[in-house]
Amino acid sequence: MSEAALPTTVACPDCGYDVPAAPYCVRCGEWLEDDLASHPTARRGFGAAPNESRFAPKLSTLFPQLPRNELDTFQLALGAGVAVVIALALGRLFPLALVAAAVLTPLLLILYLWEVDLYEDEPVHVIALTVAWGAVAGVAMGLLSKEIVDVDAGFVAERTGRTVVWLGIVLPLVGVILMLVGPLVLLPYRKFNDVLDGATFGAASAVAFVGAGLLTHSASYLGTGLRPVGDVVPWTVRVIALAVAIPVIAAGSVGGAAGSLWLKYRAPARDRNALGLLGNPAVAIPLAGALVVGAALIQLYTREWLQLALLVATSLLALLWLRHVIDVGLRQESAEIEIGPPVACANCGKATPRHTFCASCGVSLQALPKATRPGRLAPPPAGQEAF
Ligand SMILES: [Zn+2]
Ligand SMILES: [Zn+2]
Repeated sequence: MSEAALPTTVACPDCGYDVPAAPYCVRCGEWLEDDLASHPTARRGFGAAPNESRFAPKLSTLFPQLPRNELDTFQLALGAGVAVVIALALGRLFPLALVAAAVLTPLLLILYLWEVDLYEDEPVHVIALTVAWGAVAGVAMGLLSKEIVDVDAGFVAERTGRTVVWLGIVLPLVGVILMLVGPLVLLPYRKFNDVLDGATFGAASAVAFVGAGLLTHSASYLGTGLRPVGDVVPWTVRVIALAVAIPVIAAGSVGGAAGSLWLKYRAPARDRNALGLLGNPAVAIPLAGALVVGAALIQLYTREWLQLALLVATSLLALLWLRHVIDVGLRQESAEIEIGPPVACANCGKATPRHTFCASCGVSLQALPKATRPGRLAPPPAGQEAF
């Protein structure tokens, strides 16, 4: 097959444009082949992972710009990290479990951002700035909360009116504002005008804030020796929540709220209604506050397994919100671009016309590391034809 076949086009049932006849629409990512075996729900998938539903709270939400094979590595790393946290708690090394829980999610997110190197050509590394802001604000919050309410490492001594007001409501709300303020500094810059940028900055700031806050908050406890007195089961359940559920709630809420600000102030007018009510900062910011306050109250009013179950449920809601925001971000501006020359997809390696989605695997080309995105995409491998 050496002669280049004339590209045939079809009208996409979703976006209505004439697009190359291929498994996926290059403009909107719609599945174009009538194969219900691969797409049992017959619905469009998540922009960063077309084989997954947009309504599945999966890990691809936190790491949307990784090619599939690397996502598996991150999934393994998260699983291994949680296993380490649990093992430390089961071994009664509570302070170490606490440190591991505090650093796990921030570390993975920083590794991810470093791996995809989204902002490589920035003189001041914007991600480092966002993470540093989150960490400094988190330390300040940790010190402040220790000053105001006497709490042990992650376990509230007793629930009083005062602890409920401060730990349950006031400090969480102040925290949401602090987590948002750092990313907001980047809102005016044209370079960072994607909704995806806003969501990324918000999530990075949030996990750094939560991790640094937990470490600071627990500092006095960390000084009491490696094996302080405590019950294994409540500690183990607690550190699982601290390692995963709490940072995900913060990342989803603050990432979602930041995404709404970017959508309102940076996105083209046509895209501004894409998130419905969630695209309105006047709704999204209070919602972020409500989720974080909800998580704080759950920690004050429930214990052990019930607490973990409620926190995991809340974190899934936050993750779904972030996923929705990222999906909208990945589809932004796709209508205005002309279909370009063939490039190699960094996810599946096949040739695809340069546009928004890979014609072969359906992944958003925006969902791939910026170094391989349109403009800098490598030419397709020899012998492969474009659609
Ligand atoms: Zn389409
Ligand atoms: Zn592909």
